[in-house]
Amino acid sequence: MYGLTIPVICASYDVVVVGGGAAGMMAAGTAASRGKRVLLIERNEKPGKKIYITGKGRCNVTNASDLNAYMRNIPTNPRFLYSALSRFFNNDLIALLDDMGVPTKIERGNRVFPASDKSSDIIKGLYRYVEQNGADVWFNTRVKDIMAENNAVKGVELYDGRLVEATSVILATGGLSYPTTGSTGDGYTMAERLGHTIKPLMPSLVPLDIVEDWVKSLQGLSLKNVKLSAYAGGKRFFEEQGEMLFTHFGISGPLVLTLSRYMLDHNVTDIEIVLDLKPALTLQQLDERIRRDFSKYNNKQFKNSLGDLLPQKLIPVIVELSHIEQDKPVNQITKEERRNLVEMLKELKMHVLGLRSFKEAVITHGGVDVREIDPKTMESKLVKGLYFAGEIIDVDALTGGYNLQIAFSTGYLAGASC
Ligand SMILES: Cc1cc2nc3c(=O)[nH]c(=O)nc-3n(C[C@H](O)[C@H](O)[C@H](O)COP(=O)(O)OP(=O)(O)OC[C@H]3O[C@@H](n4cnc5c(N)ncnc54)[C@H](O)[C@@H]3O)c2cc1C
Repeated sequence: MYGLTIPVICASYDVVVVGGGAAGMMAAGTAASRGKRVLLIERNEKPGKKIYITGKGRCNVTNASDLNAYMRNIPTNPRFLYSALSRFFNNDLIALLDDMGVPTKIERGNRVFPASDKSSDIIKGLYRYVEQNGADVWFNTRVKDIMAENNAVKGVELYDGRLVEATSVILATGGLSYPTTGSTGDGYTMAERLGHTIKPLMPSLVPLDIVEDWVKSLQGLSLKNVKLSAYAGGKRFFEEQGEMLFTHFGISGPLVLTLSRYMLDHNVTDIEIVLDLKPALTLQQLDERIRRDFSKYNNKQFKNSLGDLLPQKLIPVIVELSHIEQDKPVNQITKEERRNLVEMLKELKMHVLGLRSFKEAVITHGGVDVREIDPKTMESKLVKGLYFAGEIIDVDALTGGYNLQIAFSTGYLAGASC
């Protein structure tokens, strides 16, 4: 009987959770706490690989702001999340982590981190929640497909051919971003095969490739308290102040990641980005400031007159872009040249080549269409017993701990409803 493999039902559970990330662990622990027989299946050798790299290894696990602030920081389908966030919010998560031996602290912008500053403690706490409630966990096991009959879930099929029976399956396989952590989009394929619509998938909260070469020459330079504005078809659609970073390909940093989300609503290559290096000063105030510097350095060359105003690395770039001869004595710079310089410092223009890839994106925009999911339970409206949790759903937020809270809230709701 060569070549014929007969699928073997190797186990039977009430609930199978696919994916041991933030959403999956929360869902498995919560379902098991209700007395359900739960199996959590994770393809990696350990849980929460993506959590490990969050918040630069510190894990900005949630945000302590109120629900209204959440709604403002969730650009994609915030209303869909209202029930999930109301049912299990930041204070519930903080209390649960505390119960699991992981105290937290609140920092600038209401960002919540583990008191230890170690993302590994968040993983340990969540895994404790799974184990203490008695869920079984299989590592190094990859789910291939979901079995369904008459629009009702029957279980899952593994890549090694085995079948696991279940009356509920919670899909928590994450998105496409940082695929090395295990999130390679398997869940989208499984959901699509069962009839679900997948809204176009795009990298979001992602650095940008920039056309201008001067940008790349600033690689490594980080700027605080600058303003970025972005225009499409001459209309401004973004303006915010904060921190940004120059890289060998373009720009990154918190301000740029936020901007990348709003760019998705436009044709990326039509976008013009304007950098204001001195947002605290008006044109006139900056002009006065430069006049003061110029009289201080009256007998110096232009290239040696900007050290009080700009970081060293930026000076040669600004000098070149200003078209003022770099060796020109400051006392010979004309009024018009100075005015142009002032304007340029307030309006440095950059053009976008494109977004960086999923490999560098914090989050995936798009996913399972929210119109096909019941927001009160996270159950599929198409397939009975199928639930969704986390990044696989077409929801995404800005940076600040909101994305993980979305994973926890939807994971909790799925685990509490299945
Ligand atoms: C660099 C970086 C930093 C971030 N920092 C923050 C932050 O500080 N705060 C914040 O709120 N958010 C942050 N995020 C976003 C946050 O990590 C995600 O929103 C969150 O991890 C999504 O959780 P999830 O459980 O839906 O998916 P994931 O965490 O991606 O988990 C999915 C799991 O499913 C497993 N899996 C996939 N397919 C299969 C399969 N077929 N069979 C079995 N298992 C499978 C994967 O191996 C993975 O473990 C960051 C993201 C990145 C990339």
